[in-house]
Amino acid sequence: MTITGLHLLLTYACNFECEHCFVFGGPQQSGVMTLDRIGEILDQADELGSVEWIYFEGGEPFLYYGALVRGVQQAARRGYRVGIVSNAYWATAPEDARACLEPLAGLVQDLSISSDGYHGSEPDGPQTQNALAAAAGLGIPVGLISIAGPEASGVAAAAGQIPAGESAVVFRGRAAEKLAHRAGRRDWRTFSECPYEDLRSPGRVHLDPFGHVHICQGISLGNLFATPLKAIFADYDPDAHPVTGPLLRGGPAELARCNGVRCQPGYADACHLCYATRRALRGRYPQTLAPGAMYGAASAGRH
Ligand code: SF4
Repeated sequence: MTITGLHLLLTYACNFECEHCFVFGGPQQSGVMTLDRIGEILDQADELGSVEWIYFEGGEPFLYYGALVRGVQQAARRGYRVGIVSNAYWATAPEDARACLEPLAGLVQDLSISSDGYHGSEPDGPQTQNALAAAAGLGIPVGLISIAGPEASGVAAAAGQIPAGESAVVFRGRAAEKLAHRAGRRDWRTFSECPYEDLRSPGRVHLDPFGHVHICQGISLGNLFATPLKAIFADYDPDAHPVTGPLLRGGPAELARCNGVRCQPGYADACHLCYATRRALRGRYPQTLAPGAMYGAASAGRH
């Protein structure tokens, strides 16, 4: 497989605790990448030889501003294209927004601002507008990403790298726990494929502060602080993997079926069934369905 994007979850901590968050970001979460760890990840990215993009996201990456700025500088110096995803809480006034972004000018090729009702900030709210204006003034390419309410229809969903504009909520992580009851239901047996991730040959993975390499949030292929990324990817056998194997054979329905997980009659979407099944299987696959932070175990995130 050819990995072109590494998405660094700089921290699970966030000043908000949005209901739609895939990764249970919130004030109670622990775990942050140090500069040493970021350097180690960039060394491993160099060894892969195929990486083009390094993203810094979270949680809220601006909470650890020193690590963010130095991490961006290091990634750019090594020739990577750099992206950041942030809720722009720091853009409290035009000059404050500019002060935060100035050290990143010329180094960042994609600044995505999350702004929607979940974040307590609408796209026309002052912080969002301050961040957009400051980025534009500094020549930083910037876009707005927002997630629609769970009852929305006719809005396409996306997972992983959310595109600019409005996307439908995907019922994983906290969204599965907090929002799925507001959506319609389908028979669990109809969810016979993973609709969003290329589990056989992903183009990008998420890396968390504990070293987990996520092919989808909460499905770990290994720990890069124990085994280098190059070896993790070389050893990955999608069909033999205890979680991606069943998902490839028959989607979340097959993951539940082959593990004897008792299902509810209906689920909001494939990810809702997938997440609920994985959560039930954490004891059986503790190294793979990790860390706890991805399953709502705030501050107990190492496992
Ligand atoms: S079905 Fe499972 S593996 Fe696929 S995108 Fe949804 S949560 Fe991830």
